[in-house]
Amino acid sequence: MNKSMKIVITVPHSKCNGGGWILFDPHDCDKKSASFARKLNKAFKRESKLNTILILGDVNRIECDLNRKSCHDSKKYEFSKKLDKFLKEDNTNLLLDIHSFPGNHITYELYILVLSGDKKSMNISKSLYVFLKKNGVDIAATEGDKTNHILYLGYEYSIPSVLVEINERLSDTRMRELSNLIKKWVLKSD
Ligand SMILES: [Zn+2]
Repeated sequence: MNKSMKIVITVPHSKCNGGGWILFDPHDCDKKSASFARKLNKAFKRESKLNTILILGDVNRIECDLNRKSCHDSKKYEFSKKLDKFLKEDNTNLLLDIHSFPGNHITYELYILVLSGDKKSMNISKSLYVFLKKNGVDIAATEGDKTNHILYLGYEYSIPSVLVEINERLSDTRMRELSNLIKKWVLKSD
């Protein structure tokens, strides 16, 4: 197929405020999410048929959580304005919502959060899960709900959407490998 695919990559918790140095302090940002999203974006951009838009968070999650309805609806931040613009365009083929977790207790390389009770969310998330697992990724899936507002909005607008959480202990090399695998999955499922 030659038609191009438009992919929106959102990174709502990328903005850090210098936290993270006190043991057990609140997880004020997703420390590796921007780095991983940029690698994904770079991998996608190498394919002429993939057209990507990267939207990084512009407020710290403690101040306003861009992945929550109240913050999104306040329309105070560029992130939400840009996201709304692309949701309303009817040619977005895929939304990837990227997060990261500290990896102190959970050792998976990556996990996928599935919108509870949504069949389409279940199908696309399972497809990525199976593909990555087959390719040797240490992966898990967990259920989320409507409070995961970006994922929920994706489904409201009938855009296939997946929420990916990566382990902050992954090396740059491994993050690049995972980005390339996700790209392969995108190309395969087109
Ligand atoms: Zn997050």
